[in-house]
Amino acid sequence: MALIVQKYGGTSVGNIERIRNVARRVGKTSGAGNQVVVVLSAMSGETNKLVGLTQEAAEFPLGREYDVVISTGEQVTVGLLAIILNEMGYRAKSFLGHQVPIVTDSQFGSARIESIGTDKMAEELKKGSIVVVAGFQGMDGQGNITTLGRGGSDTTAVALAAALKADLCEIYTDVEGVYTTDPNICSDARKLKKVSYDEMLEMASLGAKVLQTRSVEFAKKYEIPVMVRSSFTDAEGTLVCKEDSEMEKVVVSGITYNKSEAKISVLRVPDRPGIAAKLFRPLTEDGINVDMIVQNISHDAHTDLTFTVSNSDYKKALKLIKEKTAAEIGAEEVVGDPNIAKVSIVGAGMRSHAGIASQMFEVLAKEGINIQMISTSEIKISCVIDVKYTELAVRVLHESFGLGNNEVVEEKE
Ligand code: ADP
Ligand code: ASP
Ligand code: MG
Repeated sequence: MALIVQKYGGTSVGNIERIRNVARRVGKTSGAGNQVVVVLSAMSGETNKLVGLTQEAAEFPLGREYDVVISTGEQVTVGLLAIILNEMGYRAKSFLGHQVPIVTDSQFGSARIESIGTDKMAEELKKGSIVVVAGFQGMDGQGNITTLGRGGSDTTAVALAAALKADLCEIYTDVEGVYTTDPNICSDARKLKKVSYDEMLEMASLGAKVLQTRSVEFAKKYEIPVMVRSSFTDAEGTLVCKEDSEMEKVVVSGITYNKSEAKISVLRVPDRPGIAAKLFRPLTEDGINVDMIVQNISHDAHTDLTFTVSNSDYKKALKLIKEKTAAEIGAEEVVGDPNIAKVSIVGAGMRSHAGIASQMFEVLAKEGINIQMISTSEIKISCVIDVKYTELAVRVLHESFGLGNNEVVEEKE
């Protein structure tokens, strides 16, 4: 008998018929003699709708109450699945995050899991029940409801698998695994059989939303094998696991994009020590994460600084810099642009290969796509471009780096 955690995403629980489909899959796994813990997302579109309501209610909704509202979608789906499973003759019980309990810090909107109580779940599993847990939500030390950031049900699932010492964590979604790029925008994308934690971590953090970044961090830390697969077919999925010799030896393993960032430029800032600290400290104090930063060469003792933040923080960050920080540091102008995308190429093989960056720049240039910002690490190169060229950039890069279905896989030296 194995203990299996199965997570089903929004599309997989998008209506009652689909929840019945999930119930049949869960029932089959349980019927085969396994203990099953199910984690569910809200119905697709539901969390976006709830976020929209909070934004209609106020320009900057209070974090605590924002989480009270946006966590509710998961309450509906877990209740419905438990009702259907019981109706089908299985024992099943739903749990909200605070009932488990899943204890987090108090960073509303992007809380981190601190601990998970397993006693109640273990008791139900021992009785032969299927445990159905609401993804995405937790409770802080003061009993406030928190949420784990968009896409956070993946993290709930992997964290539960770690806490329960599960044998396997399966992430059921609307594609058949992890691909060389988003299969919904590049029909030639190729499904990977296996991908290492490190490469998946990089792909997720650069926008491949098939897994939330923190879920991969958990999986890597606790060495949980994670199987990503479709809830609509029986196709073999992608195993996310420790790097091994069976993995494909390629230079570039994937292309990712992220449309959920915005760019802010602070122009003609006096170029002297301490300016960057003064500019970014207030943002950090407000819980706003800055991603890419570019500072221009100083011209007549003035410089321009450009950085990106997540779309959800954009309005807040722009207001803070415009109304407060710009005057303090003596900047002449602040301009924002939410219509950007970050396109990245990822691959551990890039460590030992030169010329990858220039190939990327040439491919974009050939299509007339202007690069606004560049950032590199050992195993990735990212370019910020106009959002309207995202799909085109992904497709031409995918083709140029030979990632398609019909391509021969290049061996690493
Ligand atoms: P769920 O609701 O099941 O959590 P998500 O929408 O969060 O599903 O994640 C699945 C989606 O991730 C896919 O529909 C696909 O468009 C997108 N995606 C982006 N990059 C990749 C990739 N490299 N491989 C697979 N899917 C990807
Ligand atoms: N429902 C949440 C979201 O849309 C969590 C998830 O789906 O993983 O972000
Ligand atoms: Mg998701």
